[in-house]
Amino acid sequence: MPDLIRSWVETANAPQNPFPLNNLPFGVFSAGDAPRCAVAIGDNVLDLGALQAAGLLPDHGFDAPALNTFMAKGKEVWNDVRQKLTDLLREGNKTQAVADALHDLSGVTMHLPFTVAEYTDFYAGRQHAFNVGSLFRDPANALPPNWLHIPIGYNGRASTVVVSGTDFHRPMGQMKGPQDDMPSFGPCKRLDIELEMGAVVGVPSEMGDTVSVDEADDMIFGYVLLNDWSARDIQAWEYQPLGPFQAKAFATTISPWVVTKSALAPFRCATPPREKELLPHIRDTGPMLYDIDLSVSMTAPNGTPTVICRTNYNTLYYSAAQQLAHHASSGCAMRTGDLLGSGTISGPEKGMFGSLLEMTWGGKDAITLDDGQTRTFIEDGDTLTLQGNAQGDGYCIGFGACTGTILPARSARNGGS
Ligand code: MN
Repeated sequence: MPDLIRSWVETANAPQNPFPLNNLPFGVFSAGDAPRCAVAIGDNVLDLGALQAAGLLPDHGFDAPALNTFMAKGKEVWNDVRQKLTDLLREGNKTQAVADALHDLSGVTMHLPFTVAEYTDFYAGRQHAFNVGSLFRDPANALPPNWLHIPIGYNGRASTVVVSGTDFHRPMGQMKGPQDDMPSFGPCKRLDIELEMGAVVGVPSEMGDTVSVDEADDMIFGYVLLNDWSARDIQAWEYQPLGPFQAKAFATTISPWVVTKSALAPFRCATPPREKELLPHIRDTGPMLYDIDLSVSMTAPNGTPTVICRTNYNTLYYSAAQQLAHHASSGCAMRTGDLLGSGTISGPEKGMFGSLLEMTWGGKDAITLDDGQTRTFIEDGDTLTLQGNAQGDGYCIGFGACTGTILPARSARNGGS
């Protein structure tokens, strides 16, 4: 485990600060003006557009409101920029030009860090797949027959991927309970979260090309926290035979910072033991998961935040590199800005489950928040926040919060009362 790299930005040296010089996550910010690219350092953002204009960084499109130009350039450029930024910010190297490009993190607005080309969501958490299979079907046949052989997924919506802090209205949809004669249309009553990590594709692939697991790993620029908000009642009615559709199309929230693969390198770990050997095109070639502590907290209106889940990214059965290699294995073109959701990350025990569906076992066992309020699913005004933290030796690597508050349904827009 490498040591903390000390910075002249003093707040970056505090052991609990999520943005030490070892991290340097990339995002897009504005300070009452045009959005441009940045890295986080301590309690500050560093304006990369300004550094580029000053000739302190090469032109990788850092003056644009998205990281896509930089993300497309690949690992040599990513590593070169990381090295230059590390040198500029290292203890003893303070210059006025770089100091002038710092802004207080608390005073800026964070934007979606990259233009999301397409969004694919996987289902790589074994405990989650078992839990959901048990709830929706039966425990004896909980895992679908393909599950141990391919990372299964569905094509989601890029259009409604939003940055942390974007509040949205409870979705409307069609649903039909098991006792209902006819389906009905109305506000979702079983609104849920899914705790996930998102892998961000930097280097694209051509239509018709396949990629190995190692090549796939090289294509990945970094990782974000991802909340795959889910409408369980809409999902239960619509999901067969083509999978989730409107149940997950209304919002997906990601953290404001993309943590690079370089920053996470010390935390690499292997996938769990295989029950069935994988076919060669998606077989593990090295440790490509990460040891990242994850948590979910819930805050009811006028309530106090309660941590309702603690788990770790290292529990997943498939890495993002395996998912990406599988995704391209048919010749599917992968694009700069593609976002790959990991699948819900649920550890093996209650308290480690990454969705309310699992925590409350289908809504049967309410959870109690620290302020005494109880919940089965999300109510209007509730705030859900994901956090991620890779614990180093004397420092930690954070993503910034991935949070959202649910507003009441906008039923009138859809012809309701
Ligand atoms: Mn999901």
